[in-house]
Amino acid sequence: MTTQPALTIADYKTDEPSWWCPGCGDFGVLAALQKALLELAIPPEMVTIVAGIGCSGKIGNYINSYNIHTTHGRTMPVALGVKLANRALTVIAAGGDGDGYAIGMGHFVHALRRNPDITYVVMDNQIYGLTKGQASPTSMEGFETRSTPQGSIEHPVRPLQLAIATGATFVAQGFSSKQKQLVEILKAAVQHRGFALVNTISPCVTFNKVNTYDYFKAHLTDLDTMPGYDPTDRELAIRTLIEHDELVTGIVYRKPDSVPFEDRLPGFRAEPLAAQSLEVDPVDFERMVMSFR
Ligand code: SF4
Repeated sequence: MTTQPALTIADYKTDEPSWWCPGCGDFGVLAALQKALLELAIPPEMVTIVAGIGCSGKIGNYINSYNIHTTHGRTMPVALGVKLANRALTVIAAGGDGDGYAIGMGHFVHALRRNPDITYVVMDNQIYGLTKGQASPTSMEGFETRSTPQGSIEHPVRPLQLAIATGATFVAQGFSSKQKQLVEILKAAVQHRGFALVNTISPCVTFNKVNTYDYFKAHLTDLDTMPGYDPTDRELAIRTLIEHDELVTGIVYRKPDSVPFEDRLPGFRAEPLAAQSLEVDPVDFERMVMSFR
């Protein structure tokens, strides 16, 4: 019997030169995700990254796995399709705050209520970096950018509260420079049976000079050190997010008895779609056609 050599971090890396600016928070998210996959011992060929458009959408190019670089805001439906086609795969959707919480917002909300077994990593830098610095859905009120020269007059999206209110079963927030905690969050998210949102504070060092590493180091509260914090308590989670204006890190909420979307489908069968007969029963088909006549 031949034994497989143990996986190393090199197995999750590619030779693609990095496109990101030096110091970009996305480097920390990439490193944490690679480490999480290694520590979970998930072989690269069992991972599919579905990435959106934006600086963060490049992440799939840097991880040795299957990678779909999809269109703007469409990570959710593509990731769901991959998961339904092969439920054995670890499916990770990844993108930025603009991709996920603006053009992708409709898909995001429906993914939350459906609860497919997908991990969604949002690299949140509160600005559009790829298009050179416009206000994004998570930009702070008053934030001056090229598109808001007199300061943003819009209230920012609160993704964590929105997710919990919509029925999310796993909600967490990490910080790209807090590697140890981010790795543990990502491991828990991948292991969670259902949809796992990991909003990751990932500073844009080029275009966001307000929400910097130092800003977050001064303002973030670590839920892991908060006495009595229980991530299975949904009301406590929402209350804490409101009290701290979402400036927290850690697992915010986790529903222990989550059952993924694909397991609740009528006629659920565990094997991949490719291994199933997809022939339509002619009697059922005729009945369906007749119902429209
Ligand atoms: Fe990162 Fe900002 Fe540079 Fe984009 S523009 S790579 S988000 S630092």
